[in-house]
Amino acid sequence: MNLEQIEALDGRYHMNVYGRQPVAFVRGEGAVLWDTDGKEYLDFLAGIAVMSVGHSHPKVVEAVREQAGTLTHVSNLFYTEPQAVLAERLHDLLGWGKVFFANSGAEANECALKLARRWARAQGSAERSGVVVALGSFHGRTFTTLAATGQPHKHEPFAPLPAWFTYVALNDEEALEQAVGDETTAVLLEVVQGEGGVRLATPEYLTAARKFCDERGAALIFDEVQTGLGRTGKWFAFQHYDVAPHIVTLAKALGAGLPIGACIAREDVADAFKPGDHATTFGGGPVPCVAALAVLDVIESEGLVARAAEAGEKLISMLSAATEGNGAVGEIRGLGLLIAIELAGDWAAEIVGKALARGLIVNNVTPNAVRLAPPLIVSDEQIEQAVEILVGILSGYGDAS
Ligand SMILES: *Cc1c(COP(=O)(O)O)cnc(C)c1O
Repeated sequence: MNLEQIEALDGRYHMNVYGRQPVAFVRGEGAVLWDTDGKEYLDFLAGIAVMSVGHSHPKVVEAVREQAGTLTHVSNLFYTEPQAVLAERLHDLLGWGKVFFANSGAEANECALKLARRWARAQGSAERSGVVVALGSFHGRTFTTLAATGQPHKHEPFAPLPAWFTYVALNDEEALEQAVGDETTAVLLEVVQGEGGVRLATPEYLTAARKFCDERGAALIFDEVQTGLGRTGKWFAFQHYDVAPHIVTLAKALGAGLPIGACIAREDVADAFKPGDHATTFGGGPVPCVAALAVLDVIESEGLVARAAEAGEKLISMLSAATEGNGAVGEIRGLGLLIAIELAGDWAAEIVGKALARGLIVNNVTPNAVRLAPPLIVSDEQIEQAVEILVGILSGYGDAS
């Protein structure tokens, strides 16, 4: 099918919830995608920080092919080896924890929130229900994770939402101290707000969050759905800080495009869940689990955590140097290969469209910020190519401020 035919079918039969670009992709390899016309693109979004090991990595493809032809699904009424082995691998990466496998980031966060409440009950606090979250956060699209998302405009069409969330400004320790009380079961934070425009929490803020949680017996949950597994130049973004959570959630990069999320909790917290408390039909199935095991192998064997740190610094410094003196470009910030270019005006969507036309995929994470999240396998040449395209486009905005 060509693009027009696909668009027509989608328009007629798929719910109209996505503001899509007029492109349909048919193939990917490494950091490169091809559309229905055979046009080649440099993918500096990686399916929103999902394809960290690149498209169609041979080791992931082989693992999935093999498992799909052997055993695809048996439900969680039975054991399967890939699930148990993946749980052990995630435990070993963190050095602690027990794992629940979900199918997405939102579901991993649902698990974390349910577990935090169960843990509070296990500690004898029957009345506790509150959760403190940051403004500008993103935690998912289910009713509860939407309520946890600190973006009121996303709530309005669906009100009323679960009412047990308190919203505080990111990096405002005083507001956090006021919000965390005796009725708080959890503080849920992104170490770097991804959808919020790549906004970094300060070390002081995360340290304070852990302190207030410990004082009140609440769980500190880090949502590392976007930042986890090497994206920021450490296995977990919180490892840049001297603060550990009680619970951490993962999803995006874990399955290289196969749906899998994980909620990992410190053992004593995890043990608050009893048989029957939580479940999923598909979660932790053999195919996504072998994909995830292959992803972790690739990240390790190809040294992609260190590569993300190094490539991210290169990308930020090249962009900063090349746009110095351009009044249209504000802060260029990020951690590892999660980067935002802030603009002096609401031109992000326009710039993304221009980049796409020139064969570069990036995204307008907010009206005035363009997000870059290339695969961690991105080469120096690809970084130089992307910078050249972006700088060329941004130079057209130089006089606009
Ligand atoms: C993408 C994202 C989610 C939601 O993940 P889904 O798989 O879309 O449900 C949650 N939290 C963060 C930080 C995310 O970036």
